[in-house]
Amino acid sequence: MQEANSTTSACMFCGTRLRHTFVDLGMSPLCESFVPREKLNHMEPFYPLHVYVCEKCFLVQLEEYVSPEEIFTEYAYFSSFADSWVEHMRRYADMISDRLALTRTSLVLEVASNDGYLLQHFMRKGIPVLGIEPAANVAKVAVEKGVPTLVKFFGERTARELVAEGKQADLVCGANVLAQVPKLNDFVKGLKIVLKPGGVVTIEFPHLMKLMAENQFDTIYHEHFSYFSWYAAKQIFAAHGLTLFDVEELPTHGGSLRIYARHQEDETRPVTERARELMRRELAAGVDRLETYAHFAEQVKETKRKLLEFLIAAKRAGKKVVGYGAPGKGNTLLNYCGIRTDFLDFTVDRNTYKHGKFLPGTHVPIHPPEELRRARPDYVLILPWNLKDEIVEQVSYIREWGGKFLIPIPEVTVID
Ligand SMILES: [Zn+2]
Repeated sequence: MQEANSTTSACMFCGTRLRHTFVDLGMSPLCESFVPREKLNHMEPFYPLHVYVCEKCFLVQLEEYVSPEEIFTEYAYFSSFADSWVEHMRRYADMISDRLALTRTSLVLEVASNDGYLLQHFMRKGIPVLGIEPAANVAKVAVEKGVPTLVKFFGERTARELVAEGKQADLVCGANVLAQVPKLNDFVKGLKIVLKPGGVVTIEFPHLMKLMAENQFDTIYHEHFSYFSWYAAKQIFAAHGLTLFDVEELPTHGGSLRIYARHQEDETRPVTERARELMRRELAAGVDRLETYAHFAEQVKETKRKLLEFLIAAKRAGKKVVGYGAPGKGNTLLNYCGIRTDFLDFTVDRNTYKHGKFLPGTHVPIHPPEELRRARPDYVLILPWNLKDEIVEQVSYIREWGGKFLIPIPEVTVID
């Protein structure tokens, strides 16, 4: 594996100097920074998307280039806009309330509670909740719904403040927060402090082994500082006195883990067989060997070549190609592959906030979905490929004029 010569950064968990590149996706703008028309001629900041793997603990991580305050204090993503996600979390609330036998005297604490999309389900059951959310605009929506929310970053300090007020939680939960934590040790230490003796922490995050196996390199962006295997997560929690005792494998975000943690000294919850089995599977896949990670970068380059080959051939044959969606992952893909309006005339999205704006970096215009009927494209490239079944169904009318769908990941595929 090549030694990276550009970084003096240390592993955010164990402090070892980062020397091994996992993948280098070049320079990219922040994936949520959509460009309004009047700013098309302005300078746009680009930051490196260079991911390393730590040779000691095998945590895969981005060097921190952008301050978390810049990304997260005013955030455009509202969880409640995605129906399937809200449903996913409703089922979680039912399952975990039963499993932990939560009552009116329990406390559920959610870190990165967004607009209250999850905590509202516990509230309906009469279980007391508290949300912690750093993005003030999003937290405001939660408070208006009646979900108690503190506008703060979570870590050791916030945890100590809560304990001083007599607040410790029976359940501490978080979904899609761990990858976005810049101070990982401080965050996990906070979980340990705020957890009641006998309490449980559950955290969901995209599974690194799935990212590698299915070539999901476009899920790498500046907002995601780290990418976890079960193996790495287990070490990080253990270092702070928390034992991972159970795990569920979920289909969300292309394949996620929901990990369960408890205090090391709490022996009432033994480590489950499915947790041991996942560890065996990861070790068999080479989670603790650098060579395993070395293959990924080449796989990513080959995906780019194949996608470009397809698009070049399509354009030479006079085909019209447009995009569907404007997700973060689409911006990584298009910027890394250099796909601009020379290949994609435009993209469409259901979110009205994005209409009339342009994708960061590539400046592909974003239109409402109706534009597809007017343009009658030969190919529609689906950027949020994790929702491809839903989208193919919604937009099946492109078949009326012989239109086809293109899926970029794990490798370019045509759906008639
Ligand atoms: Zn490390």
